[in-house]
Amino acid sequence: MNKEYNPYQNMLRVLDDAAIKLGLQKNDYITLRFPERQLVVSVPVVMDDGHTEVFEGYRVQHSSTRGPCKGGIRFHPDSNIDEVKALAAWMTWKCAVVNIPYGGAKGGIKVDPAKLTENELRKMVRRYTAMILPVLGPEKDIPAPDVNTDAKIMAWIMDTFSMIKGYAVPAVVTGKPLEIGGSLGRNEATGRGVMFTLLNLLEKINCDPKNMTVAVQGFGNVGSVTAKLIQKQGCKIVGIGDAFCALYKKTGINIEAAIKYAAENGKSLAGYQEDDIEIITNDELLALDVDVLCPAALENQINGDNADRIRAKIIVEAANGPTAKEADEVLDIKGTKIVPDILANAGGVVVSYFEWVQNQESFMWDEDYINNNLKKIMKKSFDDIWKIHIEKNVSMRMAAYILALDRVVRAKRLRGVFP
Ligand code: GLU
Repeated sequence: MNKEYNPYQNMLRVLDDAAIKLGLQKNDYITLRFPERQLVVSVPVVMDDGHTEVFEGYRVQHSSTRGPCKGGIRFHPDSNIDEVKALAAWMTWKCAVVNIPYGGAKGGIKVDPAKLTENELRKMVRRYTAMILPVLGPEKDIPAPDVNTDAKIMAWIMDTFSMIKGYAVPAVVTGKPLEIGGSLGRNEATGRGVMFTLLNLLEKINCDPKNMTVAVQGFGNVGSVTAKLIQKQGCKIVGIGDAFCALYKKTGINIEAAIKYAAENGKSLAGYQEDDIEIITNDELLALDVDVLCPAALENQINGDNADRIRAKIIVEAANGPTAKEADEVLDIKGTKIVPDILANAGGVVVSYFEWVQNQESFMWDEDYINNNLKKIMKKSFDDIWKIHIEKNVSMRMAAYILALDRVVRAKRLRGVFP
């Protein structure tokens, strides 16, 4: 990854552009250029061999203007405060785009969780939770899964918070296992939202999913579910890849088989075999001659260095921040349609919201109800953005930022600046 790239500066540049397009003065939105609160914690863990390791952890709350702060926690060796600040801000814009009553937050630990034993991982999660506990709570800040975190980790967070409070508090975290207040449909929600978004776009531009070839970068929860669900809609998935390996097959890859293989082989696609499948590089995966490219991994994958090599006509951003501003400018000139992250991958936080509401009501909804409501919200948000995109003749990213910023600024204006 490009070392000079600063995701928070990238976010600010897009934000400032949107503010200009909305006719805002600096004073109208200056508070939104700064995260409300940034917490950096040290997380000591006594490792299995007896030595103590200290990990750096973060929780950033970008905005609580529209409601409690909301956003996932990621474990990654490259995680750092600027990344978490950007991810927190993107959560603010994302929640505003889909109009759910949350602000934005994000957390992270600088760690490669694959190098920890289960015991070490559990101790790290519990200590991290204890360290950020003063800023958490169902009315304050509600974590969820993100890169390299899952339902099991959310269960440990829920338990740690509950033990310290003295009673069960399921609504402190979303993406939990079903048995302790998780929601049906949450696990697949981000990928399902990406699928709805792609279908919404294809309908607008009169394209049939059955004629679409697709490459998906990233094969974690989001990438794998997206690939599976869009394949069910008739798209041909010709390229997939993860941190270990990228694969190409002209006639389409069997995604169900690849998912099964990765689950049984340390969450890695390396070594996956099919007739006529070719091993390619990550750069080649991104540059495949496909109709749709779906980056579902990390930030800054499509950047100033490779933007001119991207051949996909449509990019649906399943990851957060996969396209740097420099690349946006190049792709815009080429006429590439980019459906921005803050719309395309919002399905996860929408069903997180449903989970939180169910926890507050102590009443469980059925899966059809959840998926139908997700579909409705994704459609409404898509249409709201499409309208701005056409009427103001701006990119879909700019349209999404205009929609989000307008909503947050109106809320801010009503609340005023304390004291
Ligand atoms: N980590 C996911 C995201 O980036 C989900 C966040 C949530 O559900 O709070 O949108």
